[in-house]
Amino acid sequence: MRINPDVSRVLHVDMTTGKAQILDFDSRARHMGGSGLAAALYEAYGTPSAPWDDPTEPIIFAIGPLTGLFPVMTKVVCGFRSPHTGQWTESHAGGRLGLSLRFAGYDALMITGRASALSALEVGSRSMQVHNVHYLRGRGVFGTGRELRRIGRHMSGHRSTMRIGPAGENGLSFACINVDSFRHFGRLGSGAVMGSKNLKGVVVTGDGAFELPGGDSKALNKLYKDSFMEVTSTSKMKKYHDLGTPENLEPLNELRALPWRNLQATSDPAISTVTGKYLAEEYLLRKAACAGCPVGCIHIANLRQQFGEDHEYLYKQVSYDYELIFAQGTMLGLSDPQDILPVLDETESCGLDSMTTGVALAWATEALAKGIISEEETLVPLQFGEVDGYLKALRLLTNAPNEFWHTLGRGGANAAAKKYGGEDFACVLGGQEMAGYATGEAYYVSHALGFRHSHLDSGGYSYDQSDKPKDAQKASDFLVSDERDRVIINSMVGCMFARKEYSLERMQECLHVAGFTALSDTLAQAGTDMQHLRWKLKFDTGFVPEEQTIPKRFMEVTNWKGQADPVYLQDLRNTYTNAIRTMAGAQGALE
Ligand code: SF4
Repeated sequence: MRINPDVSRVLHVDMTTGKAQILDFDSRARHMGGSGLAAALYEAYGTPSAPWDDPTEPIIFAIGPLTGLFPVMTKVVCGFRSPHTGQWTESHAGGRLGLSLRFAGYDALMITGRASALSALEVGSRSMQVHNVHYLRGRGVFGTGRELRRIGRHMSGHRSTMRIGPAGENGLSFACINVDSFRHFGRLGSGAVMGSKNLKGVVVTGDGAFELPGGDSKALNKLYKDSFMEVTSTSKMKKYHDLGTPENLEPLNELRALPWRNLQATSDPAISTVTGKYLAEEYLLRKAACAGCPVGCIHIANLRQQFGEDHEYLYKQVSYDYELIFAQGTMLGLSDPQDILPVLDETESCGLDSMTTGVALAWATEALAKGIISEEETLVPLQFGEVDGYLKALRLLTNAPNEFWHTLGRGGANAAAKKYGGEDFACVLGGQEMAGYATGEAYYVSHALGFRHSHLDSGGYSYDQSDKPKDAQKASDFLVSDERDRVIINSMVGCMFARKEYSLERMQECLHVAGFTALSDTLAQAGTDMQHLRWKLKFDTGFVPEEQTIPKRFMEVTNWKGQADPVYLQDLRNTYTNAIRTMAGAQGALE
């Protein structure tokens, strides 16, 4: 099949009827792919006034025009209404999903409706089937993966398996979708959206073939080789392959920007057993890569656990990276990988977002120590550095046996702190539990007000680490323009680790030689348009920047620059609020 350069080919599956149709969605020159395509589809098919779990609300998995054509163009954008915030959002994952969708012949898979029984969706280039998998109810992510792989085994080609755990079935607002065992649509609750559709898993088989829309195959081959060399020869990408993102743990600890024990500290000597080097030397089993990536940054540890008394051991493969070690290691006061890895493994099995889970449990630990809540609520003792309580807490969080765990699981630390107290030390910036950077004002504002409430919307944390003056206008301009660049690469859909290797001009060249000439010409404008559309959708689905909080804890912590400057922070907050309101075309209190 030849790829149409002008429209995106979308498979729309309605889980209520079990029927599917193919849409030729106009126009690629406007929506690009990935992030832009998901937003444009939501603009056309979503209902912003409906609740996030309304069956008509879509969950969208979108690849980009360069997926599978160039190195590290490997990711998939999942667009959905977040149960954590109610707003339109995105989460990104790699694995084999992007390539499987490409070979299945779809630019996007859009799922609406709600199945009458717990189901798994199987999709190929010429087939679609809904399987009743009621027997998987309550099953963990690992066991579910084994069952789903059986469903797709009669087909050939690149195959990818997405699934949710009990957290997604139970509607936890930070349930994730596991992709091919070691990748995730992690943040903001896409797993609960799948659960609300009675959808336990999706198997995508790329059993077709595709032809490029045109272009220049010789030039494409040369550009592929050049891009491959650039991606594999930089020291930065070598770093991702070598120690992976955990390499950042030690320097951030030295900078006093690594959160420990619910951000009560930003540095600790206990770092020595959670550095990237220590983890690699003592625990690393193997590395893996997303399909189409020559870097391979996925680090998988070998966890050996003893059971019984007679030298019986269980071996498990547990993936780890910087954010996971921060959220369920340092944030919980755990510094022995032998403690951290089982927590990561159990979190994975439940199908929870590791980062939000860790930060929410860190809040609960401090709230318990301060007497704001008691063991009547938590049911188990929670203490920084004590792993047993956390392992039990993960099942309590997932199964919600009382009001406390129910509240924490549906809204996280913010929801629980509103009910019980302790908002000052709930490490939530705006709509979501923090990522592992206590770098200062630009990061706090970009996370609190950012499109995804994430460290990935823009490089606020790197702006804080530069020598730039405290100029709110300049910082706000940086956040806006950096986000625009990221919208474009997230519409192609490339791995963010290689964003420096794919400049705007390089992406235009890639599109041109592959035959997407109209999009190549409009790329810069399309990036701006889709950035604005994403903001519009976020406001339309309930975002109010003035209501986003930056708790007191963030103003108390000290890093290498000292404490955050409240005047600069407020100035930046106001300036950035005006900027995003302007992009969204939204009226606001500050205008
Ligand atoms: S660098 Fe890592 S996350 Fe990025 S595409 Fe490669 S393996 Fe996947």
